[in-house]
Amino acid sequence: MSQKQVRESKHFDLIPLCDGVVACIHKAGGAASSNAGIIDLGDRTLVVDAFNTVAAGRDLRATAEALFDRPVSALALTHWHDDHWIGASAFGAETLFLASEPTRAACLEAAAELVKSYEDRAAWDAELAKMEAQLETETDERKQIGLSNGISRTRYAMAEMANLKPRFADAALSGAITFHGAKRTAEVRSLGRGHCADDVVVLLSQDGIAFVGDIGFFDTQPFMAYCDLDLYRKELRFFLDSDFRTLVPGHGVVGGKPEVEQELAYFDVLEDLVGQVVKKGGSLEDASQIVLPPPFDRWLFGGMNRFAMNVRYLYKHLGGEIPGES
Ligand SMILES: [Zn+2]
Repeated sequence: MSQKQVRESKHFDLIPLCDGVVACIHKAGGAASSNAGIIDLGDRTLVVDAFNTVAAGRDLRATAEALFDRPVSALALTHWHDDHWIGASAFGAETLFLASEPTRAACLEAAAELVKSYEDRAAWDAELAKMEAQLETETDERKQIGLSNGISRTRYAMAEMANLKPRFADAALSGAITFHGAKRTAEVRSLGRGHCADDVVVLLSQDGIAFVGDIGFFDTQPFMAYCDLDLYRKELRFFLDSDFRTLVPGHGVVGGKPEVEQELAYFDVLEDLVGQVVKKGGSLEDASQIVLPPPFDRWLFGGMNRFAMNVRYLYKHLGGEIPGES
């Protein structure tokens, strides 16, 4: 069954990768800040990741159902970060929600914290007001974009916080599971620790397409706060050495091996610059003054928070000492 024209979502763009495989790429100002995917297995539909809000998850479900005229059979989650699975609540009981065992456990913990934070509505109101006030006076365009994205994301989260019932995986995979469809085969495989505690990818070998979750951040800064850098690099090299030509990242644009090389170069450049600060005995504050060379300077637009967390991670990783932290 080939895919049909469907209504556009204000939260994501649909990028057809081949007949029956579609990337859903987050749009600025919408309720999605991560990517997802829709795969026609021939007799069933497999969705990869579910966005960071129920609003975007609802559109994802409606899009997948409209594209292939059937309910979604399975939803595979790449990892525990909540910007990838809060939207899973929008899917029905007919959809098998699949995650790895470590991911499922981490989602339970993350959801408990999230639900607790939602109880303090006043704190969210205050945070939103703070960001709005900052945006009025902020002159750094890189921070302005981050603030306006943050405001929009916070508004969407607040609109649904009262009714949020987090949905957790119904089935946990260990290692890998292969879906043998009438049209194509999809392997959902854990690559283990790297970007976070456990990273799962969805491999469509016969199409040369892979959904790589947050192993991939293309044309935008990676998020390193929970990573093991050596293993993160190893995950990226897995794709460099593979036959996958089209890679759908967890954030940013659809890419391939050149984007993987760029991401590895970002790690090298930032590690080198932070390493120089640590070697000279500089502080974390000194490290945060680092000026990134092109093209990575452009990646800072809207991503100054992520940059600060990456610098902090590397500063500690390279032996820098932060007062009050061991
Ligand atoms: Zn992530």
